[in-house]
Amino acid sequence: MPDPTEIEIRLIDRLPEAVLVLNAERRVMAANRMAKRLLGGDPAGQSLVELVPNADAVPDIWNVTGEATAQFEAHALSKDGRAFPAYVSVGAALPYFLVTLRDLTDQAAIERQLVERTLRDQLTGLPARALFLEQVEQALLRRRVHGSTSEIAVVCLDIDRFKVINDSLGYHAGDELLIAVARRLEEALGAGYALARLGGDEFGFLVECNRKAEAAILADAALDAFKNGFTLGASLPGRQLAVGASVGLAFADPGIAPRAPTLVSNADVALHRAKTGGGARIEIFEPARHGDALGLLEMELALREAVDKNEFEIVYQPIVDLDGGRMRGVEALLRWNRAGKFAVPPGVFIPIAEQSGLIMPIGRHVLAQACLQMARWRRDYGAAAPDYVAVNVSARQLAREDMPALVASTLEAAGLDPCHLELELTESAVVDNPAAARKLLDAVVSLGASLAIDDFGTGQSSLSLLPSLPFAKLKIDRSFVGEMDVDPNSFEIVRVIIGLAKALGLRMVAEGIERDSQSKLLLDLGCVLGQGFLYYRPLPAREIERLCAAIKGPPSAAIEPGKVVA
Ligand code: C2E
Ligand code: MG
Ligand code: MG
Repeated sequence: MPDPTEIEIRLIDRLPEAVLVLNAERRVMAANRMAKRLLGGDPAGQSLVELVPNADAVPDIWNVTGEATAQFEAHALSKDGRAFPAYVSVGAALPYFLVTLRDLTDQAAIERQLVERTLRDQLTGLPARALFLEQVEQALLRRRVHGSTSEIAVVCLDIDRFKVINDSLGYHAGDELLIAVARRLEEALGAGYALARLGGDEFGFLVECNRKAEAAILADAALDAFKNGFTLGASLPGRQLAVGASVGLAFADPGIAPRAPTLVSNADVALHRAKTGGGARIEIFEPARHGDALGLLEMELALREAVDKNEFEIVYQPIVDLDGGRMRGVEALLRWNRAGKFAVPPGVFIPIAEQSGLIMPIGRHVLAQACLQMARWRRDYGAAAPDYVAVNVSARQLAREDMPALVASTLEAAGLDPCHLELELTESAVVDNPAAARKLLDAVVSLGASLAIDDFGTGQSSLSLLPSLPFAKLKIDRSFVGEMDVDPNSFEIVRVIIGLAKALGLRMVAEGIERDSQSKLLLDLGCVLGQGFLYYRPLPAREIERLCAAIKGPPSAAIEPGKVVA
């Protein structure tokens, strides 16, 4: 009969985690196979402090009793002296102590990559939006601290008709153009303006100057940089592509000490006006003199009436099995078709709705419509209908305590079984106030609906929070997916995100799949669900119905995956 310790050791040897058994003197009396591998040898006889130098600084580490464990993150040392980040848990198994070690090296690498990724745009090498906002914030702070009267302006620039170029010449040409524009703007502006890519085809820069005219001159220089057209060597050899841009400019009024996000969104409003005015022009956001606040106010007022005027449309993008393309769920995406005006993209009106609080009624509208629509599809098409509808919920909505009650009453009014509803939240919605978010999310999950974390990897990283929140799914942001087949860095990020999702037992959906090669790589990595133009664009409800009918009935009504319908 082997002695008890041997049995225990044989048992712990099978555990996938590194486990150490410490005797009453707190020295290692046994280590399992994983621990020996992690520590580069057998640590028998060593004290915990020799293995995890900071362990003694953890209060009450040796006073754990019963089921309780002391858990902390620290650096552990392997036999060869290499320090690695580890998650350490100490529990009592009297007369012994049981210590588990989890190597966080991978996780630390993911966090570093994600931080780097949010700070810098991989395609152009320019700072990304988060870093730009930080630079603007610093400039505003410097001015406040020094009591200076200098002008601070944010200039946003967006390529005119970029979508047409992208759609007609292909995404490689689009990428090539973005890089060329970045270089051209760097040349035109020179150093010192914090030039950044703010997302999509939008660039921004920061001007600190003595007179407003200087900022306007620079905005003009940026527009001028487009005069000579662009040659895209790889995509359009030997041909000159005429490309224009629109520019929006906003000054930070020293009197009202604005914050960086407000300043950038003011510049965005001006930019939007420049675009709807026909493009190839500069618009300045200057509330006092030009009544531009009116532009914002007017948009806000119009938004307020949009529900009543029936100007909102909800389109649905199928989420499919990457293998075979069968529709599994749909994501509800809001469209605002302003009567007599251009369609306003969600990237412009959602932030305005969030700032003004209008996201509350609008969000309720989307949730109610999406649930009603889904209930109808389930009723009319049964198993041929999508399994679930995913609805985007913004941070502002989650901050309301009545969120779970709203979800419950909406589901009930629509007669929809909660298992057919998924809510998508971004990381920032939970990072801002994790404790409050957890309470509300738990309540939503207990209704029977499920939760997905949207745009994963682009916001403030919530890696350390993620395991304790009731998310069932993680959506890999399209900025990573979009480049994963051409950029090894993006591929690596997608790979680690998928690894992370698997380790946490989360399902995943890859967003923004545009090419076969991306879909194949995702499948190889073990991601089986996705959405993107390769399969379907966001479609009006009636097109989803055609799809359901095709699944249910004769195949002649089928819409081929990949066919662009809307
Ligand atoms: P999201 O939730 O990440 O939605 C996915 C976005 O990716 C959609 O943009 C969709 O049209 C786009 N997309 C899908 N496949 C592809 C692809 O293959 N390539 C590319 N380039 N894009 C693809 P959309 O509809 O413009 O919406 C933008 C964002 O606006 C959404 O991002 C979401 O954050 C927000 N939004 C949309 N509707 C609502 C809503 O009802 N409520 C809230 N709070 N936010 C919404
Ligand atoms: Mg979404
Ligand atoms: Mg997303």
